[in-house]
Amino acid sequence: MPFDHATDFPTRLSVDEARQRVVELCAQRRVRVDSVPLDRALGRVLAVDVVAPQPIPPFANSAMDGYALRGADLPRDGEKRFRLRGVMLAGATEALDVGEGECVRITTGAPVPRGADTVVVKENVRVDGDAIVVPGGERAGANVRPAGEDLDEGEIAAHAGEVLSAARLGVLASCGETQARVSRRPRVALFVTGDELVPPGEPLGFGRIHDSNRFSIGGLLEGIGIVPEPVAHVRDDRATLRETLLAAAAACDVVITSGGVSAGEADHLPGLVEEIGRIHFWKVRMKPGMPILCGEIGKALVFALPGNPVSSLATFLTLVQPGLLAMQGADASPRRWRAQLAAPIRKKHDRTEFFRARLDSAADGRLVATTLEQQGSGMLRGVAEANGLIVVPEDVHELAVGDVVDVVPLPGLC
Ligand code: AMP
Ligand code: MG
Repeated sequence: MPFDHATDFPTRLSVDEARQRVVELCAQRRVRVDSVPLDRALGRVLAVDVVAPQPIPPFANSAMDGYALRGADLPRDGEKRFRLRGVMLAGATEALDVGEGECVRITTGAPVPRGADTVVVKENVRVDGDAIVVPGGERAGANVRPAGEDLDEGEIAAHAGEVLSAARLGVLASCGETQARVSRRPRVALFVTGDELVPPGEPLGFGRIHDSNRFSIGGLLEGIGIVPEPVAHVRDDRATLRETLLAAAAACDVVITSGGVSAGEADHLPGLVEEIGRIHFWKVRMKPGMPILCGEIGKALVFALPGNPVSSLATFLTLVQPGLLAMQGADASPRRWRAQLAAPIRKKHDRTEFFRARLDSAADGRLVATTLEQQGSGMLRGVAEANGLIVVPEDVHELAVGDVVDVVPLPGLC
């Protein structure tokens, strides 16, 4: 039976309303915090602020290989001799002293000797016995990295909610951390529905297509570090779907389904979620992707994505991904770029439309967006060739060449 939607839940929300609702629901379902070794923490969301326990770098050190000396002794013009007092290499355990007219040979990363405030690079001096000769024009204070120039003691080195990039792992390590306190990954169940689906590798019988969504949605999940539970294929059979939804909801934080969420007679998802859980909203004023549903079953949040491959991708990127980030305490505001249109766009409806596009950096520094020919919501190749989605807002119906538009970068571009 098709779902009768004389309902008490919101329907036909705008994209922004839907995303806000998703983010609120997910922020109420924050996952727990785990400690993981730094070498397992790439891409995870930091759960606490990390504070520098000492200045970083911890001591003033040389930025170059050269000679440490007193800047006040440098010649304005002509040349000047500096007597060599000794050598300090990176890892030196004791500081030497530098007095007037003296210098210490030094390597990058070595502590600056007491009394010195300047390093002259070795290529700029001439060695003459136990002295060096420095020409005029060197700058006092050059090539010294002061203690704390990167971070002061007590300064926040990395903030809760930041995603641990390679460079941030380095920051944590330089603070002496061996572990990172990060949000646990949400446990996600993904299943695809449809009597017409067969897995790749199996022959296509009459009216059958290969299931591609498990790979494209699965790939988007993996792109944000989430490996879903083994993906199930469920026929358009109400009883089996019911059982699968209940089992997935009991085991996971989030259940993502593909297909069967429109108003067709084999579209069981809305009625089932209403029956065994609760619908938060159904249908969003977007194209592609309008039939998306967000609900809950038990403790799990449910995202029922439309089966059209491009619709499932667009709804994942605009609504599900921000939600999964919010669950981990990360910034969920969608990343948008601005670009200039290379071709006009026309749309007739009042929904937000996402056009598949190529973003190219023009020689003059502009970012240029070109819509691709394949805009059908079933046309996966159009997305595969795209690296961004142009966002045309509800109230905009015509755009000309050169107009500036918002673009959602597709994974791989950002
Ligand atoms: P549905 O949302 O179930 O009405 O499906 C809409 C369209 O998407 C139909 O043409 C389906 O055959 C297609 N479709 C549904 N699920 C998948 C999938 N997993 N992979 C590829 N196409 C799909
Ligand atoms: Mg279907």
